[in-house]
Amino acid sequence: MTIHILPDEVASQIAAGEVVERPASVVKELMENALDAGASLITIRIERAGQGLIEVSDDGCGIPPEEMLLAVGRHATSKLSSAEDLFHIKTLGFRGEALASIASVSRLALVSRPQGSAGGAALTVDGGRIGAVETRGAPVGTLVRVEDLFYNVPARLKFLKQDATERQQIDGLVTRYALAYPHVRFHLFQDGKAVLQTSGSGNRRETLAHLYGVDTARQMLEVLLEEDDFRLTGFTSPVALTRSNRREITFFVNGRWVQDAALNSALIQAYHTYLMVGRFPLAALFIQVLPEDVDVNVHPAKAEVRFRRPDAIFSAVQRGVRRALLAYSPVPSLSGPAWQTPISQNQPDLAWEMAGDLKNAPPAQPSLPDLHATLPDDEELPSGQLPLLRLIGQVGLTYLVAEGPDGLYLIDQHAAHERVLFEKLMKRTPAAVAAQTLLEPAVVQLQPAAARIVEKELPTLARYGFNVELFGPNTFRISSLPVLLHRMDPAAALRVIVEDFEEDETPLKQEVEARLVARICKRAAVKAGYQMSQEEQRALVTDLERCQSPRTCPHGRPTMIHLSVDLLERQFGRQGSR
Ligand code: ADP
Ligand code: MG
Repeated sequence: MTIHILPDEVASQIAAGEVVERPASVVKELMENALDAGASLITIRIERAGQGLIEVSDDGCGIPPEEMLLAVGRHATSKLSSAEDLFHIKTLGFRGEALASIASVSRLALVSRPQGSAGGAALTVDGGRIGAVETRGAPVGTLVRVEDLFYNVPARLKFLKQDATERQQIDGLVTRYALAYPHVRFHLFQDGKAVLQTSGSGNRRETLAHLYGVDTARQMLEVLLEEDDFRLTGFTSPVALTRSNRREITFFVNGRWVQDAALNSALIQAYHTYLMVGRFPLAALFIQVLPEDVDVNVHPAKAEVRFRRPDAIFSAVQRGVRRALLAYSPVPSLSGPAWQTPISQNQPDLAWEMAGDLKNAPPAQPSLPDLHATLPDDEELPSGQLPLLRLIGQVGLTYLVAEGPDGLYLIDQHAAHERVLFEKLMKRTPAAVAAQTLLEPAVVQLQPAAARIVEKELPTLARYGFNVELFGPNTFRISSLPVLLHRMDPAAALRVIVEDFEEDETPLKQEVEARLVARICKRAAVKAGYQMSQEEQRALVTDLERCQSPRTCPHGRPTMIHLSVDLLERQFGRQGSR
């Protein structure tokens, strides 16, 4: 084939592919246009999951009749005039591509009447073929109807997910925008049924209930952090409320929904050691920064942004979330599964335990934010939150029973030991990180994923007593083991530390280290069913009293249940009956 310039139609369809991937992308672009137009009410009608109809109408500023043709042209925008402007963008749109792209892969009708104008105008575009502008009576604002999406790109149609999935996508999208713009009224109808109606009153919790369900929404913690040129608002979940994936993590930056792995990491890091491995928080967080502090022009669908000072942003996100977690002081209770109600009588049990280890911490990878550097000391909680306990004994070879000034404590021996070992290891007390040299080095071959982790973390492993070197493809030679694991088979020990280490992660250095250590602790801690001697029991309770975060194990499970005097009295009817 000879080189030739592509016909306009083909070129626009290719460009459209970047902007319009699925019905939800059309909804997003049209909704953003309405928001840019200053709408106070946005009504969205969807039929057949967007394949039949997507209609978005608003009461915004409208489009003058003489600009209607331009609006659907490529690279036509009223929001930007020079390249310079790209660095002060205050609108959601700026590329001038959306209407043209959508119109090239659907049948689009545009009806608009600007504020202060007597009448409106209408225009249709059919698979990129632009019709004539006609005068038409219309309410102030703009209506865009998109019918038969992808009718002329059958390949696209094939890639669409099932209707239910596409519908959910749209629901989730509109709900998140409604959360981001609580002063705008959003009405969403799917096949004639109202699925979302927000009041525009600014009350976000109502909308949150739509996103997560009433129960979950009620539990979400409010986040608010204001510093110069930075504002973080929104909601994040208490430590007991988690999901098995990151899908419920939403970030908006300057009113724009973005997908940003580093922001996600910053959030997850704020929950450090309070979440079980493989569990993730839910969050809907809204970041406001100066327009010049963020580059929004890095992705055709504008789903990614680049910050001028990422470290500052990430650490602020962390501070804001952590503050919300710290402010949350749950009421002790025994109803429901115990770990849904973290047990804490007077102090929220969320000390930032890592802070003490910063000095010895390895330097963060250059491209990743140094999340610890800016943490102010005054937010650390005092250590030793447990009162002195009097040990009573062991029950069921699994729990220790102890008495404190404020009631009874049931301690899970395994979880408690995990916590104790974890804090000792992370502090690198010499006894805890001692290595036991093997008489004969052991050779182990690992699964490729696990091998990659070991290869990357050789120095980390060495710090905790695992001296390991690369010996061949995916093969390692182990010359020493952590003393804590000396009874295990060396190959098996290395395996349990690194296998199934969740591949999809690109966790921060600190997180990898903590997770490796948590795994060592899990193996080394006494198991349920082990009969502990009196001395061992006493040592465990004393060690636990000294922990910074004695009430949860490194995976976020509780180490103990507290039966307060008050609770006991109520349960026995001694209170209120007198
Ligand atoms: P962009 O939003 O990047 O400018 P679009 O293709 O989405 O590009 O829209 C092109 C232009 O059409 C916008 O710049 C705006 O002037 C006008 N426009 C589109 N939708 C609306 C609307 N709902 N209300 C007012 N003007 C609109
Ligand atoms: Mg736009």
